[in-house]
Amino acid sequence: MRKICAVTANRADFSRIETMLEAIKTHPDLQLQLVVMGSHLLEITGLTIQEIEKKGFTIDRTLYMEVAGNNPTTMTKSVGLAIVELSTIFDQLKPDIVLVPVDRFESLAMGVTAAMMNIHVAHTQGGEITGTIDESIRHALTKLSHLHFASTEQSRERIIKMGEIPETVFNIGCPGTDLLLRAPRLDQTTTFERLNTEVIKVKEKYDPDKPYLLVLQHPVTTEFDDIEKQIVELLEALRQFANYQIIMLWPNIDAGAERISKIIRHYLTFTELADDRIKIVKHIPGEIFVNLMRHTLCLVGNSSSGIREAGYFGTPVVNIGSRQTGRERGKNVVDAGYNKEAIIQAITQQINHGKYPVERLYGDGTAGKQFADICASIPLPHIQKRITY
Ligand code: UDP
Repeated sequence: MRKICAVTANRADFSRIETMLEAIKTHPDLQLQLVVMGSHLLEITGLTIQEIEKKGFTIDRTLYMEVAGNNPTTMTKSVGLAIVELSTIFDQLKPDIVLVPVDRFESLAMGVTAAMMNIHVAHTQGGEITGTIDESIRHALTKLSHLHFASTEQSRERIIKMGEIPETVFNIGCPGTDLLLRAPRLDQTTTFERLNTEVIKVKEKYDPDKPYLLVLQHPVTTEFDDIEKQIVELLEALRQFANYQIIMLWPNIDAGAERISKIIRHYLTFTELADDRIKIVKHIPGEIFVNLMRHTLCLVGNSSSGIREAGYFGTPVVNIGSRQTGRERGKNVVDAGYNKEAIIQAITQQINHGKYPVERLYGDGTAGKQFADICASIPLPHIQKRITY
């Protein structure tokens, strides 16, 4: 029986491994170990560990590792702290494989720790191209990993070009797509009823019949000094759309998020966005979020969900800035720079366009099961890695 230890640090990486965990749990030849850390344990990011527990997963270990400060120095210290804690945990749990999701700074700690402890590393979502520090972390994780679970054919080929053994590189699609495709299809009224009861705690609720924009803007850590200017341009643009409802998410906790949040608070207090037209939430449970993505006039910002997921509903997307530059995307995505006028123009264009034909670029909804089947049967490659050409 192979022991697979999955580590998750936030909702973004959890949605990219959830169906893998389910498949490991039910596979007769695999045993799941689960470590939950980072943002999942923090009130400020929505205490998403509760969602994991509600889903019936047994959590083997938890650990706090996010150092306060929200800047590049503290983000780096957080990686160090996670390495210290994870090495003890892996030593106790003795997994055969550590599952390392995606490309976040927390993931770097997982990959470094497992690889240095001679534990096989299975990595998801390698070979993709984006901006921010995620780009470097993702490719570094490929070099630290022994098994590679890419989300697209292009990514699979890129991993092989990076010198990885072809027999260890699989295109299984994105496990996030598994969740999208099995989420119940809710109409807009039901979606808003659930949003109003389960997420919006204040008295002023969303109007289920009114059109709305969905907005997610995260920091680009490699553009740390420009973060304030970037969010101001977006909020100035959103003022022009204040006749619509706006559902906005607080940013994730990457370096610079507090700068973004401070400016959002200012706009919520002093501009027409204050008039309860815009409510900012920490986290929307996946099933509701998927349906908000399905019905929105336009998804705006730099979340990977705009690039990887919205195409499954033909939802128009305005992708702002460099965070997603280079990632495979559908025709539903229009780019805009960090510029108020460009953002207004792109949102207007997308609202006028309406829905696009559906494009399914990131898998067919079977990634979790494929992952478990491969992990259960593949002869594990030698722990000593070598570049192949
Ligand atoms: N997501 C969610 N609820 C939310 C916001 C996002 O379930 O309130 C999901 C979304 O569908 C995507 C994942 O979380 O699969 C990550 O999105 P996010 O924008 O947080 O992070 P990114 O991947 O851009 O770093």
